[in-house]
Amino acid sequence: MTPGVRPLIAGNWKMHGLRADGLALARAVAEGARGLDAELVVCPPATLIAAVAEALAGTPVAVGGQDCHAREKGPHTGDISAPMLADAGARYVIVGHSERRAGHGETDAMVRAKAAAAFAAGLVPIVCVGESEAERLAGQAEAVVTRQLAGSLPEGFAARGGVVAYEPVWAIGTGRTPTEADIAAMHGAIRAHLARTAPEGAGVRLLYGGSVKPGNARAILAQPDVDGALVGGASLVAADFLAIAAAA
Ligand code: PGA
Repeated sequence: MTPGVRPLIAGNWKMHGLRADGLALARAVAEGARGLDAELVVCPPATLIAAVAEALAGTPVAVGGQDCHAREKGPHTGDISAPMLADAGARYVIVGHSERRAGHGETDAMVRAKAAAAFAAGLVPIVCVGESEAERLAGQAEAVVTRQLAGSLPEGFAARGGVVAYEPVWAIGTGRTPTEADIAAMHGAIRAHLARTAPEGAGVRLLYGGSVKPGNARAILAQPDVDGALVGGASLVAADFLAIAAAA
């Protein structure tokens, strides 16, 4: 953890959740959230953002989107803009998740435009970066992540309170994680890049994501420059998500 920085634990529900179970999950998270030091965010599928935001009003748990379009409005069938997310009650939005980079062909430039759109709508972007397994095995992990950061973070990212999530692609949904030393080294490299880029870079919250579970959360969150977690599978079980948050 970075001293003096409030940890952020974000739950990425991905394409999971119908109304009844999504609302029940959100309420269970809110019930367990009081008294925790960490800031909590849940990112439900877009169909549930408004209902979850309503259910969580007055609780310490915030709501986020999982993606946004770079434009405010227009002929983009099926897309959702950052102002729409804000209007539905979101305060955060994940952009550049590897499932979108891989599955929807999102480039660093597109991610950067989305993050800028998020700021313009008053949302906090959580920008995801991370290397593939082949890139790590080739010794390219830090170079890849640094290049993604250079291309994906819009002007004023640190000063405006943006969040970075380091998610090695090969650790997502696999039950595998980098060693604690590798996580610390990558977060240190990300911090150094941010600090070189802007004086406020030292205060950017850096989340680790990829197979974070109650059993490994404490050790991961204890690493220097790990200021929280982006949690996928384990965020779908309130007790697991809360256990991870309690470890922060
Ligand atoms: P996981 O997903 O925790 O299920 O590995 C993390 C993510 O994709 O954000």
